[in-house]
Amino acid sequence: MSIIDNIAKRVLRKGTVIEKRKIAGDTYHLMLMSEELKDLPYAPGEQVKVYIGADNDLSFSDKMRTYSIWNYEPDNGVIDLAISTFSNGPGAEWVKNIRECDVVYFGGMKGKRQIDDSADYYILVGDVSSLPHLYELNRHLSANKKVYSFIHSEFHEDFFTDVDGSTPLSFYTMQSADCPVKLMKAIHGIIEREQGRGVAYLEGEAEVCIAIHHYLKKHEQWQSKQIHTKPFWSQGKKGLD
Ligand SMILES: Cc1cc2nc3c(=O)[nH]c(=O)nc-3n(C[C@H](O)[C@H](O)[C@H](O)COP(=O)(O)OP(=O)(O)OC[C@H]3O[C@@H](n4cnc5c(N)ncnc54)[C@H](O)[C@@H]3O)c2cc1C
Repeated sequence: MSIIDNIAKRVLRKGTVIEKRKIAGDTYHLMLMSEELKDLPYAPGEQVKVYIGADNDLSFSDKMRTYSIWNYEPDNGVIDLAISTFSNGPGAEWVKNIRECDVVYFGGMKGKRQIDDSADYYILVGDVSSLPHLYELNRHLSANKKVYSFIHSEFHEDFFTDVDGSTPLSFYTMQSADCPVKLMKAIHGIIEREQGRGVAYLEGEAEVCIAIHHYLKKHEQWQSKQIHTKPFWSQGKKGLD
């Protein structure tokens, strides 16, 4: 075992994979459980940084990947992750190879507030890799808030339901090159008919996030505070954190 593996295993949290299931064409659901995951400070919307480099010869920059916490059960010490494999990168390989009963090492869970509950209505935009995060945000918004969602992918079989089997967000099949224009049109329609203050969460592919971010600022005159943009990956770039 390398020195860095040794240190990582000592300082990071750990959880055992109690369930691994393929839930869509390119996505696995992992459930991690341990005593030390009970009653941690947690704010919905947080991520974990998973040490995928244990016992293999990945380069230092490839040893960690960020994944959104899809659901957390503090009483049982269980967290759910949904990890996609479209990238065919080290993170994708790691999730394909991990098995039930394996131990996973990760950092994160600080309990820092993530959700902006100040809006009258919400616009959630993301691809399949951001679906776990957007499901978790959506479940923790106050019940009186209106939510419009645009989850996009090229193929319908890439989408998956929320942890409880429900489908509260709206799926759209489209090429990512067509996304910005189609989404801008749909978002404009919402903003025109809605009253009150809107807030957007833009996640997933960087190019789409950036295009919609600029559109909201320039054409809809939204303030920066109304737009929460978090690219999860970018064409040709690795391990975007
Ligand atoms: C805050 C945050 C939260 C995240 N949450 C999740 C999550 O819950 N679930 C999840 O699956 N991922 C999530 N990600 C993305 C994740 O961290 C990895 O970047 C992703 O899994 C790819 O890692 P990799 O090592 O397999 O590929 P990399 O080595 O990082 O990338 C290899 C190549 O694949 C491309 N690529 C990366 N992702 C995709 C994609 N989705 N579709 C097509 N091409 C891609 C890259 O552009 C690159 O060219 C999150 C990222 C961030 C920053």
